[in-house]
Order: sequence, then structure tokens, then C-alpha cells
Amino acid sequence: MKGFAMLKLNEVGWIEKERPACGPKDAIVRPLAVSPCTSDVHTVWEGALGDRNNLILGHEAVGEVVEVGNLVKDFSPGDKVIIPAITPDWEAVESQMGLSQHSGGMLCGWKFSNIKDGVFAEFFHVNEADGNMAHLPPNVSVEEAVMLSDMVPTGFHGAQNAQVAYGETVAVIGIGPVGLMAVAGSNLRGAARIFAVGSRLVCQEAAKFYGATDLVNYKEGDITRQIQEANKKKPVDKVIIAGGDLEAFEQALKIIRPGGIISNVNYLGSGDYIKISRLDWGLGMGHIKIVGGLMPGGRKNMEYLSNLLAWRKLDVSRLLTHRFKGMENIEKGLLLMKDKPRDLIKPVVTF
Ligand code: NDP
Ligand code: ZN
Repeated sequence: MKGFAMLKLNEVGWIEKERPACGPKDAIVRPLAVSPCTSDVHTVWEGALGDRNNLILGHEAVGEVVEVGNLVKDFSPGDKVIIPAITPDWEAVESQMGLSQHSGGMLCGWKFSNIKDGVFAEFFHVNEADGNMAHLPPNVSVEEAVMLSDMVPTGFHGAQNAQVAYGETVAVIGIGPVGLMAVAGSNLRGAARIFAVGSRLVCQEAAKFYGATDLVNYKEGDITRQIQEANKKKPVDKVIIAGGDLEAFEQALKIIRPGGIISNVNYLGSGDYIKISRLDWGLGMGHIKIVGGLMPGGRKNMEYLSNLLAWRKLDVSRLLTHRFKGMENIEKGLLLMKDKPRDLIKPVVTF
């Protein structure tokens, strides 16, 4: 089969591989829609995970089941399914501790395009199919549903880890597709005021659509000053980091209240250390939590999130700025994610 791969650091291209084999609990899926991700960019062009040779990229897909193992109960060939980017081993001890993202070790629930071939191929393999796939609701398009693989669960995970509650003030640093879903997730959880930090107009307009009350452009000066001025010098309750660099943590600490939560979902692709200001962290006694999380995988989470689309509580179509037909366009989509033209939020490729 054909697949679009990381050949080595800084180099991508098409390769031929054997079609993956299906284990007794697994499924083989043919993609119907995929979306390239900023994480693929960190992996290939920043070497954030280290070198990978001829590893098929991609982890965001909706597809049609072509084969299932003899122990799979709820899925059959022909079913249309959403596959989360994270596909944990559900029997691992980490999963029993509520940390399925790290089943088998740090970040090891993240298999596609990390520790095994990803979804940019004619076929791909899903481990533990009953636990790691969800049926596509009949009234949700494959293009929309592919946003459920990673963008919606990651942005919402940012809001969940921040424990956003009704009436709160939240700052979201970075409003690419992930940050936009952090805005939407905070809005659904009842945040009253949401500061959205980004510079591109297309993202700013989408942030307003998803519930941002204030737009902050990091290219127009210090974001902490801009937020403090707009918020009449009051600190914010929560900060979600979904973009920017390591400096975002220092900025977050400058605007957060005592007991506030800084929730990072940004994939920190470069730099070595995060600076924590002793003073801004309340001399170590400010009860300020800093948490960073990989999105949760699993069928149940996917079913809940797809309910939001099926019942029109969440409209992800605003994220889809570039649509391509045909597998050969995966490369174009990925290069868009790398170059981030001003009109881009997220590309989707249908097969
Ligand atoms: P994008 O690159 O599309 O968005 C990044 C955002 O950050 C943009 O709004 C950009 O602004 C903004 N930004 C850039 N520099 C700064 C800065 N110095 N200060 C403040 N804001 C800044 O990324 P995605 O939304 O696609 O992904 C966000 C991150 O989430 C990535 O690192 C990705 O790898 C990661 N990720 C993490 C997952 C997880 O499970 N934790 C899963 C999926 C993705 P603008 O472009 O408008 O100038
Ligand atoms: Zn992704």
C-alpha cells in the first residue's frame, strides 16, 4: 500500500509498505477523511520526538472498517468510524490509573505517527478496536468528524484540565484549531469572559464565533499588559496554552490568580526549560497549578464529543478553511500546516 511518510528528519515523501496485519482485537481501516496537524510539523521539522525513518505520518482520520479481528464485538467491515489520535492499551496499569494517554509509558497511548505507522495511507491499523473507535453519527459529515480525532478533544482537554467553571475569566494563548476548540470548550463549560491570543484575522474571527469576548494580538505588544489593562488589573481564573513558545508559561503566571490553573496542551517542540518566576508563583505558596496534557483517547470520549456535533451544540465547520479531494493532496495539506498562510485554520483531505 501507499503511504505518506517521514523519511527522516526534515524529509517527507510517498513510500510503499505492506498492508498492516489485523490482530484478534484490532481493526484495519481505510481512510475517508484525514487532516494534517501541527504535531506532524513538530515531529518532522523540529525532530521533537527524535528521528523516525519511513514512518507513515498522520493521526487524524475518519474511515471505513475493512477488517476486524475475531474478538471485536461492536464493529464490522463497512462501518464508518471516527478514530481518536490517541489509541491507548486499555489493559495497561496507567489506564487503570486514569492515565490511558500514557499506557505503557510516557505518551505511549499516542501510537499513530509516533510509535507505529499513521493514517496517511491506503489502510491503517487500530489496536483494541472496541475501545478505540466510535461509530460516525449519520448526520455528521466525514469532514466535520475528522476534527473529532484531535482538534476538539485536545482543545476541550485544555478546558477540562483547567477546570473551567461558569462565570470564570479564561485566557487562551494560541488560537489555531486547538486553541479555538479550547475557546469553544471553555465557552460550553460556562466561562464568562474569554481572552483569545493570536494574530491572524481568520483565527480571531473564528475565536469570536466560538465565544471569545476579547481578542489580544501578541504582535502588538506584551500580552500580559494587554490582558491586565482590559481586565482592570484583575487576574484571570484560568489560562489555557495552545500556542506560542516556552515564554507562554511566564506570561500565564503573570496574569493568573492565586489558586488558578495553567493548562497546557501545546506540543513543546523546542527549547529546554520552562522558567517559573518565584514571585509570580507566589513564592512557591500561591496554590497555582501548572498541568500539561495529551488529549484523551477512547471510544466513550469520542461518542460524547460526536454527540455535540450530532445535536448541533458545536459547529466545527469554521475550522475547515482548506478542503482537498484525493490522497495525493496530503502533502499539500501538510505543507500548509507547516507554512501557516494567513487564511488557514485547518485543511482536510477526503479520499
Ligand atoms: P497553530 O500553529 O495553528 O496555532 C498556534 C497559535 O499560537 C496561533 O494562534 C498563533 O498565532 C499563536 N501564537 C504563535 N506564536 C505566539 C506567541 N508568541 N504568543 C502567543 N500566541 C502565539 O497550532 P494548532 O492549533 O494546530 O496546535 C496547537 C498546538 O497543540 C501545537 O503545538 C500542536 O502540536 C499541539 N497539539 C497538542 C495535542 C495534545 O494532545 N496535547 C494534540 C494536537 C495538537 P497566529 O498564527 O495567529 O500568529
Ligand atoms: Zn493532530
